[in-house]
Amino acid sequence: MGYNKQYIKKALDEVIEKGNKAQQIYEKQKLEIFDKVPRLKEIETQFMQLGSLLGITALSGNTERLNALQAKFNALVKEQAELKKQVDFKEYIPNCEKCSDTGYVGSTLCKCVLKRAKELSFAALSELMPINDSRFDNFNLDYYSDENKKAMKKVFEFAKDYAKNLNSKSESVLFFGDTGLGKTHLSLAIAGAALEKGLGVVYSPAQNLIQKLEKEHFSYNSDTPVLDDVLDCDLLILDDLGTEFLTAYSHSLIYNIINSRILTAKPTIISTNLTMEELAEKYNNRVASRIIGCYVIKKFLGTDVRQQKRIKKLNRGKDND
Ligand SMILES: [Zn+2]
Repeated sequence: MGYNKQYIKKALDEVIEKGNKAQQIYEKQKLEIFDKVPRLKEIETQFMQLGSLLGITALSGNTERLNALQAKFNALVKEQAELKKQVDFKEYIPNCEKCSDTGYVGSTLCKCVLKRAKELSFAALSELMPINDSRFDNFNLDYYSDENKKAMKKVFEFAKDYAKNLNSKSESVLFFGDTGLGKTHLSLAIAGAALEKGLGVVYSPAQNLIQKLEKEHFSYNSDTPVLDDVLDCDLLILDDLGTEFLTAYSHSLIYNIINSRILTAKPTIISTNLTMEELAEKYNNRVASRIIGCYVIKKFLGTDVRQQKRIKKLNRGKDND
């Protein structure tokens, strides 16, 4: 799996910083409690002294003295535990128990760093993901006429169920239909749900993504972090497929992305204004047949919701005049 070095560094810094913060909060709490219960501070000092004494005595072979020290040690442990319980002392727990927030296990980067690096990398690639504006709870079926409402309610329910059961092995989905019918809205609502589940999401308008991938390809660098993310992420959302400028390379790229993700059983959501026939025409039958054969296909019906919203807003403006 490819990791972009800049994100590894950023992730490592974050993990260490977060660890330092947790440590500072713990130390502050400890000092406050030591102020209130000085005996706890005494016990801590005694522990340190006893520790080295125990070591020396164990080496000397004086069992009687060793047992006496051990008993003293045990009594202190008990007393400390009781006092801590009384003052509700919270023990220090690192954010990551595997690396204790150092970012490393031995000389290997800890999984928590790699996970965070991936999140940062996906987020950078998904810079145009306005999930806050497009949620399930603000998807309004009233914009669809009576004849389409029933069908669109089914699409909406499908999307909600899909998001609810979403995992890194979910089916892939194609949303198709005219512009402004809520395809992007529902894709983004699914993306929001996926992020809440902790899944790695890459969302991008097809045009922007293809441009980035072409740039990466023609830079002739052996590292391909963008392509790696597109192929690796738990959920890929390609918005508005069909609006991008097609070259011989982008053609094969689109097939490669769709096909690779089918082969690794990773879900992809594609939205497009093209019909199945137009899809086959634009991308050749290989791409179309992969989508038709392997994707759940949902058709969006109605008249441009965005336009309706705009008109409604304009009319409201007039009323206020
Ligand atoms: Zn860790």
